[in-house]
Amino acid sequence: MPDETSPTATIDADSPYRLPRTVVPSRYDLMLEPDLVAFTFAGTCDTVVEVVEATLTVVCNAIELEVSSAFAEDEAGTRVEATSISLDEESERLTLTFGSALAPGTWMLHTTFTGILNDKLHGFYRSTFTDDAGVDQVIATTQFEATDARRAFPCWDEPDFKAVFGITLAVPADLTAVSNAAEVSRSPRDDGKHVVRFADTMSMSTYLVAFVVGPLEITEAVDVDGTPLRIVYPVGKGHLTGYALEVGAFCLRFFADYFGVPYPGDKVDLVAVPDFAFGAMENLGCITFREALVLVDPDEVTQPELQRVTDVIAHELAHMWFGDLVTMKWWNGIWLNEAFATFMEMLATDAFKPEWDRWSDFGLSRTAAFDTDSLESTRPIEFEVVSPTDAEGMFDVLTYEKGAAVVRMLEQYLGANPFREGIRHYIKSHAYGNTETTDLWDAIESVTEEPVRAIMDSWIFQGGYPLVTVDLVNDGNVLRLGQERFGYAGDLGEGDPDASSELDQQRWQVPTIFSQSADDIVTFEKVLIDGDSIEVDMIEAVDWVLANTEGTGFYRVAYAPDLRAALVAKAQTDLSPIERYGLVDDAWAAVLADRMTAVDFLTMLDGFADETDLSVWQRIVGALGSLDRLVDAAARTALQHHTAALLRPAFERLGIEPATDDSDRDRELRGVLVGALGILGDDHAIQEGARNLLAFVERDAGGEGAPVDPSVLAASINVVASSGDAADFDAFHASFAAAATPQEELRYLYALADFRQSELIDRLLAMCVSDEVRTQNAPYLLARAMGNRDQGARAWAFVRDNWDTLNERFPSNSIVRMLSGIRTLSEPEVAQDVYAFFEEHEVPQGDKQLAQHLERLEVNVALRVRDREVLSHHLTR
Ligand SMILES: [Zn+2]
Repeated sequence: MPDETSPTATIDADSPYRLPRTVVPSRYDLMLEPDLVAFTFAGTCDTVVEVVEATLTVVCNAIELEVSSAFAEDEAGTRVEATSISLDEESERLTLTFGSALAPGTWMLHTTFTGILNDKLHGFYRSTFTDDAGVDQVIATTQFEATDARRAFPCWDEPDFKAVFGITLAVPADLTAVSNAAEVSRSPRDDGKHVVRFADTMSMSTYLVAFVVGPLEITEAVDVDGTPLRIVYPVGKGHLTGYALEVGAFCLRFFADYFGVPYPGDKVDLVAVPDFAFGAMENLGCITFREALVLVDPDEVTQPELQRVTDVIAHELAHMWFGDLVTMKWWNGIWLNEAFATFMEMLATDAFKPEWDRWSDFGLSRTAAFDTDSLESTRPIEFEVVSPTDAEGMFDVLTYEKGAAVVRMLEQYLGANPFREGIRHYIKSHAYGNTETTDLWDAIESVTEEPVRAIMDSWIFQGGYPLVTVDLVNDGNVLRLGQERFGYAGDLGEGDPDASSELDQQRWQVPTIFSQSADDIVTFEKVLIDGDSIEVDMIEAVDWVLANTEGTGFYRVAYAPDLRAALVAKAQTDLSPIERYGLVDDAWAAVLADRMTAVDFLTMLDGFADETDLSVWQRIVGALGSLDRLVDAAARTALQHHTAALLRPAFERLGIEPATDDSDRDRELRGVLVGALGILGDDHAIQEGARNLLAFVERDAGGEGAPVDPSVLAASINVVASSGDAADFDAFHASFAAAATPQEELRYLYALADFRQSELIDRLLAMCVSDEVRTQNAPYLLARAMGNRDQGARAWAFVRDNWDTLNERFPSNSIVRMLSGIRTLSEPEVAQDVYAFFEEHEVPQGDKQLAQHLERLEVNVALRVRDREVLSHHLTR
């Protein structure tokens, strides 16, 4: 059951991860001088602190720094030297001991230190790229969340030690330097270097500090209601910056209006970094991105690629308020920070491009969250975080996607306007401060007078989610809505019966919006299911009832058979795309839960031949891909024919050539169908067409030929990979190396993992540990290779055999993401090998996610054991 109070409301004074509160910083004046040749840096830091009680020692955070001197000076100018400087690498703490006690009051602490520009993509690190002239270039950049500011300067590296930062960088004269705030001066020094000084920041957490130095160019600033917005990028990529400026300007205005508070910094730079462990990072005013998530030519990318750029820019800008201006007290609050920014990203993208139907597409993200949350090894959204390593495990699908989905559920249940009023109240009352999760619920509760905290606690402090059961009783006069915990059937006889009966007892406060149709008039109603079940009196006989209107609830639905049949029959005429999506998605989950057979599922899909929506087809294709892994030989051929027959009418309605009135979603649907027909349908005509298209693009590079639709092009790349040979592999390899845009580069790179021949996969696997593939991409490439239907086991064996090398080489946060590839394996022998390996090996920074990957694999094996024979028989009968 939910905890009554937030788990880390008080600070444990003995925790090795929490600094003493007796010395509190309020301002840092930081001077850094990076050496981009020797990969080192030198620095000094003046920190203004308030000494609360007299002390001989000052303790703060530092790691991988050589601190050579330190002293303290009081307001009268009395100077006290540090007699001992000790850095404990284990606890990541710097202890300064002084010759005489520092009396209570204001002091300035001065430290002098050196450090390294590492290649681990954290702290102050180096990123490299080769410019258009073929010259290798180096950028010094930062990534401090969660606790890596301490690798760049001694600091109080916890989110509630907010302070003002005055940053100065000494850099070679020909290099660009940017940081959180606007540049106030740049002056040459005697040795020829330039000293760049930046304005003071607002009071903020150390994890949001950033500075980037390198051969970078900067766009002209766009004035967004007084805030200058610029894109900072490696030389030569200026032609890819226009879209980010457009989206950035839109989002800055959108959020200032939504939150009712102006942007809190003095400028915004969106900075493209060639090597980046995460997607992007919300450093105040100096947001860093992977190149492919900010540099884009909108005419040359698919709708999902462009939407992703839009989403990520929106997400990071939302953090400027929610996260940067108002910040969590401690890392247990990471989830709310990320969940809310993810929710806001949808809202902003939906406003920016209504035709993308962003909330329908969110169905796929919700599915990803359900897929982990259907496991016994799922976790509550919020959990106690003792060490910062615990918090690393919070950056997952349950934080981002489930978190955003429950926020969306609350918003829709309360109404968008009352919800927004609550958010405005929260941001205004906690600006420049730190909060607990409950502060948000209390703010919304005070505005809406709904039991927000009680509802949300039931979703935040327990894992899993409900299956809402729907039935009409009393001759159709009463609607009964019940709940039970939904779970996949993965237990192969080793589960703990006590644990599973405990799960059966779980209940949620389920904000439910249901719709009903009577005499062709559809009406809606909001109810809260707060116990085992509730009953709602029906005023008249209904044609159908839908228990998750617009798919905004984070729950699945099981209808009584006649109600389900009535819904499926009316799906195409009466239901919205996201509601139809929910029917397919819930049905496939029922297969994994052993509540429906794969055969019945396949039969149900026949009812979707007239489907026209992108998201619904994406879900159908995803499920067909899972079925494709379940069967072999003649049964697989039969499934391919069945798949092609189901998809072809939809494809023919659209046509192969884009029409002028196609929406962006239509264009993308064409790509999805081309990909599915060519790969899952083994359609030779499609494969031939895809090959011809790529040959044309190759011949016509930069030429005068007709423009090629990016969605069809991207799909064709995947089709050719899955049916291609060594010559295709070579061609893709060359296209990857010569790609003109970050998106094109990734398309060819990732498609290399889809080739079906073992010798080609071996080449790909070798690339993953070579300098040819950036360490920011290689883990995801390996994950995709493990998802290769025919070569997944080979890719797994490579990961197993090179485990130490991969752990040494890749960013720490990416190891468990690489292992997400095992979620698609399903052969019992391979699964046994995986389990045996992880009996002996650990991923401490992602232990929860690893347990989920392993259980998800068990679900696949169980499905295979259960349905393979029957489905094969059905297909070949
Ligand atoms: Zn975020």
